[in-house]
Amino acid sequence: MSNDRNQPLRRTKIVATLGPATDGPGVIADMVRAGLDVARINFSHGSKDEHRRRIHAVRAAAQEVGRPVGILADLSGPKIRIESFANGRINLTEGQPFALDISLDPAAGNEREVGCAYQDLPKDVRAGNTLLLADGFIVLDVRSVRGPRIECVVRAGGELSNRKGLNLQGGGLSAPALTDRDLEDIRMAAEIGVDYLAVSFARDAVDIRRAQSELRKWRGTAQVVAKIERHEAIDNLSQILVAADAVMVARGDLGVEMGHAALIGLQKTIIQQAIAANKLVITATQMMESMIVSPVPTRAEVSDVANAVLDGTDAVMLSAETAAGKHPVKAVQAMAEVILGAEKYELAHPTLERSQGDFSNTEEAIAKAVMYTANRMNVRAIVALTESGLTALWMSRLRADMPIYAFTRQMVTQNRVTLYRGVHPVLFDVVGINSSQVNQAVIDLLLKGGLVEHGDNIILTKGVMSGVQGGTNSMQILRALPAES
Ligand code: PEP
Repeated sequence: MSNDRNQPLRRTKIVATLGPATDGPGVIADMVRAGLDVARINFSHGSKDEHRRRIHAVRAAAQEVGRPVGILADLSGPKIRIESFANGRINLTEGQPFALDISLDPAAGNEREVGCAYQDLPKDVRAGNTLLLADGFIVLDVRSVRGPRIECVVRAGGELSNRKGLNLQGGGLSAPALTDRDLEDIRMAAEIGVDYLAVSFARDAVDIRRAQSELRKWRGTAQVVAKIERHEAIDNLSQILVAADAVMVARGDLGVEMGHAALIGLQKTIIQQAIAANKLVITATQMMESMIVSPVPTRAEVSDVANAVLDGTDAVMLSAETAAGKHPVKAVQAMAEVILGAEKYELAHPTLERSQGDFSNTEEAIAKAVMYTANRMNVRAIVALTESGLTALWMSRLRADMPIYAFTRQMVTQNRVTLYRGVHPVLFDVVGINSSQVNQAVIDLLLKGGLVEHGDNIILTKGVMSGVQGGTNSMQILRALPAES
């Protein structure tokens, strides 16, 4: 990797969703050049063949540009939807009666009623509940439940079209997080070798462990991301953070279930708790929504992205902006610019050293000693020679005002750390050379890439037996001087 000395390295990472708008020749490579760190494949839309094709296109684009890109496969999960209308869409007006009926012909919806494929809906809902359709734009008050039919009155009306999403305000729908289709998709994700797997509508740690064991069954190495979008997931956040490798603040469904007014407080709480639990966090949905059509973001969107950066998120995510928008490359460029703008301020990289809590192992002790030192010494860069990326993860949870380079010979690790805030992957094969040759090779690479200058201090961590996973047990302070010829 190399760097223009005048341009600071961006720390907060960009996740962007692929879709029809990114399928054109060269688009993904241009997104990588613009700053794409992790490509999201949304299993809710498109065929298995399309997913495979896009995953291969990302790997090829990363190779072409010479920058690692992670892949996040996002399971569709039990998204509950209404069925269809005979005329494709209807208009609902405030005060009118409207029913949801699980026994109705799926194509026969009209102004009075519509079907729903989720057969447990009448069991999960009772009189007095509020149902939200189409991302909360349509609000229904439940008046009664009789057999397969839920009678409602429209509180907020508008146009309603086929297969729009349905949420119960405050949560409580009992659908399990992994559907049969998700189980098939996990197998495909494991076989292709994606880097992250997102579990939609996770309720608790059991849902996460189930996804992890399915992945292992098919020899997948992906890290698991719990999407926090249900009321139950907020209640169970601390146990989800123990089980998952990362969480996503999935603001679309979360905002609908919890109410939009609660969303930003929840975003900040989830980010803080994820960092404190040494886990990763992605902030998602409608971050630059107007860029689906417009070539520039609005001030409110710029402010939203910058605030997520100041909150300490590892990554910000683009959804329809890149998957189905008119300007997928510009959306990534705009996000990168806003992030860099926010990161110029001290507020964006507070030191999060913790005075409490014991270290659970040697790697954690070393990672924390490094950050303590780095924050009190004139250090230009931190280099972790890492097999699994774990030392770099712990370092990045504490934050410091300098980049962390994860030097690794493992492609899996290189792709995985693309999501870690402030961590930059460098492919580096340490096998077969002695310890001082390793140190010099690290320094030479940093100098050659313009990542440090002659005479700068560097902190290096490694295991005495290089190349052993989980073996980091030493920290050294080196000066960047070229080898004596
Ligand atoms: C969300 O609801 O915010 C989200 C990220 O999930 P999806 O885009 O899969 O609906």
